[in-house]
Parts: sequence; structure tokens; C-alpha cells
Amino acid sequence: MAGLTDKVAIVTGASRGIGKEIARGLAMQGAKVYACARSEDSLTVLAGEIKDGDATGEVIPYALDVSDRAAIDAMVDKVSEERERIDILVNNAGITRDGLLMNMEDDQFDDVIATNLRSVFWLTRAVSRHMVRARKGRIINIASVSGVMGNPGQSNYAASKAGVIGFTKSVAKEVARRGITCNAVAPGFIMTDMTSILPDAVKSKYKELIPMSRFGESEEIARVVEFLASDGAGYVTGQVIVVDGGLCM
Ligand code: NDP
Repeated sequence: MAGLTDKVAIVTGASRGIGKEIARGLAMQGAKVYACARSEDSLTVLAGEIKDGDATGEVIPYALDVSDRAAIDAMVDKVSEERERIDILVNNAGITRDGLLMNMEDDQFDDVIATNLRSVFWLTRAVSRHMVRARKGRIINIASVSGVMGNPGQSNYAASKAGVIGFTKSVAKEVARRGITCNAVAPGFIMTDMTSILPDAVKSKYKELIPMSRFGESEEIARVVEFLASDGAGYVTGQVIVVDGGLCM
């Protein structure tokens, strides 16, 4: 199936983990995917895998730091000049800098807000200008269950992800009449570099709380993003799709 043939997509944080699988999944569906992250080498490897595989789309590596507004604007200009359209934006880049509130340094808070939330504002603002002109588009923001239920040690991260959810709903209302949808996906505990650093005791505690009794895979987030990016999801907007094995139901 190639439901996204000829669509042009931008995916941030595509060098590993969830973003890499989202970029791969959209390319498998036929999209031309600008895969962005700071680690260009990993993006080049992904582009090669897609080229040598049986995907009908392609991955174009693009070195980007989402905390740099000028670089974001330049990237969006370049994509729209090269392709004359931007159909799909997936804001996935994110970091954690966990710590208890009383010990949290200013830069721990600011870095997480800048990478996880301010970048979503910058990218969505830049891309939405093109989508509004085209009167169509799909914006998908990767939030987190931490932004829905809170999490001790993650006041900075939870604030950034709750911010992403409020941003998503507001943008969805602003652009709905222009044929653009804006949704969030809120993953639970997904096996990536971000979670592999957690102590085994913490992982076991989480697993006990998850009704499905297992952690999720990046591919399980990618499949939901592919649906939200598809023409079939045209009447879904302003939603937070929680993908967490039942953790926060
Ligand atoms: P990883 O740590 O595995 O990957 C993070 C990605 O973000 C990398 O590609 C990294 O690329 C990129 N990134 C980080 N900072 C920047 C930056 N300044 N500029 C550009 N790219 C950046 O994380 P996950 O795959 O686990 O997480 C992906 C998203 O999903 C994040 O938003 C995260 O908050 C969210 N999420 C993850 C969960 C999980 O359990 N794993 C649960 C809930 C939400 P590079 O370092 O090369 O720049």
C-alpha cells in the first residue's frame, strides 16, 4: 500500500527511536520525507536503507537543531522551494532532563521547554503558512502521557508535553476551516534510547502499571502517525491519541 504517494513530509528527531520509525513508515507509504535531527550520519544511514529497500517513497536527510529558529525557517523555505508543497509535519524531536522540582536548575527547565515545546511553535508556524495557502495539511505532534497525567521527576518534561497538547488543540481550531488537521499522539513507555537509561527498578515499576504488561515499540507509534497523516483521517482533529498499552485509561 502506498497511501502517501507524492506527499511531502517533515519529521523532526528522525535520527533514532520513534522519529526514525515514523520517517521510515511515511516513506514506506510513498511519502518524500525530510528527516531532521542533529546527527546527520544516522539520517544518511536511514536514507540509504529506504533507498535500498522496497519503499516507494524516499528519505532526505537534513541536519537541523530545533532550538535554532533561523535554521528551522531556512529548512522550511528550502523544502517548499524544492517541492512546492508541504503536506505533513511531524513534530517529534524531544529530550528529557529529569530531576525533582526542588533541585531543578533553570537550564534543565529551559532546555526541555525549548526543545520540546518552543520548537513545535516555530516549526508549526513556519509550515502552517504553506499549508494554509494550499488549504490542506496534516500536523502531528508527539506529546506524552507525562503531559496528560504528570510524572514525578518530570515537571519540566510534563509541562512541555502538556504545552504541546494545549498548542495542538488551539492550532486545530485555528486551521480547521483551511482543511488542515492538527493532532497529538501521546506515547506511554516506548523502548528507545530515551527510556533505556532508566534504572531497571523504575522500568519494573512502570511495567506493573501497564495493563498490557509490556513496553511499546517505536513502530506502534509510527502506525498511528501514518493513520493521522493519511487522507482517511481527514475528519480527525484536535485529538490526543494515547498509545500506552492502557497505562493512563
Ligand atoms: P530518542 O532520545 O530516542 O530520540 C530523540 C530524537 O530527537 C533524536 O532523533 C534526536 O536527534 C532528536 N533531537 C533531540 N534534540 C534535538 C534538537 N535540539 N534538534 C533536533 N533534533 C533533536 O527519543 P524517543 O524516540 O524516545 O522520543 C521521541 C519523541 O517521543 C520525543 O518527543 C519524546 O518526548 C516522545 N516520547 C517518548 C516516549 C518514550 O517512552 N520513549 C514516551 C512519550 C513520549 P539528535 O540527537 O540526532 O539531534
